[in-house]
Amino acid sequence: MKLMSLGDIVGKAPFKHGANYEAKIVSQNIFAEKDQKVAANYTVMPHAVYSYPQVAGVGLMEEQAQKMEIDYVLGVYPYMRTGMGRALHDEDGFMKVLADRKTRRIIGAHIIGTDASILIHELVVVMAAAGGDVEAVKNTIHIHPSLSEVVARAVNSISWEGKAPNYGKTLMERTTEQKI
Ligand SMILES: Cc1cc2nc3c(=O)[nH]c(=O)nc-3n(C[C@H](O)[C@H](O)[C@H](O)COP(=O)(O)OP(=O)(O)OC[C@H]3O[C@@H](n4cnc5c(N)ncnc54)[C@H](O)[C@@H]3O)c2cc1C
Repeated sequence: MKLMSLGDIVGKAPFKHGANYEAKIVSQNIFAEKDQKVAANYTVMPHAVYSYPQVAGVGLMEEQAQKMEIDYVLGVYPYMRTGMGRALHDEDGFMKVLADRKTRRIIGAHIIGTDASILIHELVVVMAAAGGDVEAVKNTIHIHPSLSEVVARAVNSISWEGKAPNYGKTLMERTTEQKI
């Protein structure tokens, strides 16, 4: 007898959407022939925190990429440099994108700011359906003025040669300094 599990007990993605995804995999596998069973893939499992400001992310964080010894580059963009971010006075909001320098694929994205839980989905789709292809975002037209321009410009700011552009201290850096 084979036991299949889903939800928090699996211990991989303790979210409602994680449980839903695992339920889909389990139900497919129950009826699949032996050679057609599929494994769950947690590479593109997004998360959000409904705090103020909102926090959302998908894929690797910098620390994880460093531990995995991935040669990554960063794209960073503050909300205040977009029309809608400025209109909303979101002075702390920013997005950070990690891309693998070798494969030129997005491997992680993180947002702190207004509607972060919604904005992150552009990169969730790019990572899930387009393998994280940077060009998929770069070649897509984004509405002006909208917060989606934060996503577009964060990806556009990726430089394969150099470091991430410096737009001043981020909320995270200021908060860390205050703690010290
Ligand atoms: C306060 C809180 C807030 C959360 N907010 C979010 C959120 O915003 N977004 C998000 O994605 N995730 C959120 N989560 C996590 C999310 O709820 C879980 O990841 C998800 O519900 C896991 O699904 P599950 O099926 O494993 O367990 P559950 O949804 O807990 O389902 C387990 C079910 O089994 C039943 N049960 C337990 N023991 C027995 C028994 N002996 N016999 C019969 N039935 C039993 C329980 O009553 C329950 O109905 C939150 C969790 C908590 C606690």
